[in-house]
Amino acid sequence: MDFFAQKKGTTAVWAGEDAQGATGATTAPIVNSVAFSYHDLDEWYAVATGKTEGHIYSRNTNPTVQVLEEKIRILESAEAATSFATGMGAISNTLFALLGPGKRVVSIKDTYGGTSRLFLDFLPAYQIDITLCETGNHEAMEAEIASGCDLVYLETPTNPTLKVVDLKRLAAAAHRVGAIVVVDNTFATPINQNPLQLGADLVVHSATKFLCGHSDAMGGLLCGKKELVEKVFRFREINGASLQAEPAYLIARGMKTLELRIERQNASALKIARFLKAHPAIGDVFYPGLDTHPGHAIAAAQMSGFGGVLSFSLKGDYEDVKAFLTSLRLVHLAASLGSVSTLAGPPRTTSHVELTEAQRAQLGIPESLIRYSVGIENVEDLIADLSQALAVLKPVSQPANS
Ligand SMILES: *Cc1c(COP(=O)(O)O)cnc(C)c1O
Repeated sequence: MDFFAQKKGTTAVWAGEDAQGATGATTAPIVNSVAFSYHDLDEWYAVATGKTEGHIYSRNTNPTVQVLEEKIRILESAEAATSFATGMGAISNTLFALLGPGKRVVSIKDTYGGTSRLFLDFLPAYQIDITLCETGNHEAMEAEIASGCDLVYLETPTNPTLKVVDLKRLAAAAHRVGAIVVVDNTFATPINQNPLQLGADLVVHSATKFLCGHSDAMGGLLCGKKELVEKVFRFREINGASLQAEPAYLIARGMKTLELRIERQNASALKIARFLKAHPAIGDVFYPGLDTHPGHAIAAAQMSGFGGVLSFSLKGDYEDVKAFLTSLRLVHLAASLGSVSTLAGPPRTTSHVELTEAQRAQLGIPESLIRYSVGIENVEDLIADLSQALAVLKPVSQPANS
């Protein structure tokens, strides 16, 4: 079957599933086995040395985990894929496996909070030079890249203000100096954006978010050029940040409905962004699907949908944020995003809690910002909920003449 020729919704359901063979089960089973046994020592040796396909030990590979890896590989049209215990496992293994003393990274200031910590606190201790550019200033980034680097690390749309970077343009700049391009595609998902087709060499995902989609399992995925994925896999099988069969099953199960969920979340988020934009109690609304968003044109060119996450600020202070958030009913006030249920929270307590207030200010993240990850609930109910919670702020929001 030519999976690459199929539509993504079909691939998400079928990819990897046929590798299961013998039992006839129509759902790939959870193989909770640490080791895999052989009756024939020659066959065992052939698998152990990579001459024949098979499994030896689940820190290296596992049949259930392989189903998930195959799904993301095909959805991102990649040569190879591997997996990790968490999204940060994917990101840190990729960076530590591909970098070393004397190497230089060019990235953006708005990477995910945990990734920022790697860049600011951990990688420099290994004599790795990190340059973080203003997100969205493409000229400045091209100049930094042209001055020489080994790896360009990008993320788009970013967390939490949904800034957009031009992947094709920056990948071209990176390849002119021979640098590897890594893109965190967590916010977009392969349904909305395929970085490899825009020139990236590697794509990382926090599978914990939209891919799993139900907030009940953690995982990380990496896919892209075979030679690079294998290099990272060699490091991961030794450092041990491996994904287990049970969460792999839950993520693969969630991915079967990925296209359905993302299409709905794209549509709902756009409606909610427009509703908030028109509301008198709301300050800024950050959503790349709004044509007033500075990254809208780039997003429209490189994405097929604008995603399920938006952020906005209230005309008010942090006390108003508290009153508003605790008045919402159809929401979990929690970290994370990309679930079937709506999740919201201020970045100062979620994605960017690792940063200081000054660091958040530098990134243009107001202390009163709210990140809102739209679930699959009926959008009319979500808008009614936002509306009643905003009404709690009446004294601030009521226009003078009404
Ligand atoms: C959550 C997240 C991560 C980290 O993933 P974990 O599974 O929590 O380790 C990385 N990048 C982005 C964009 C994320 O949202």
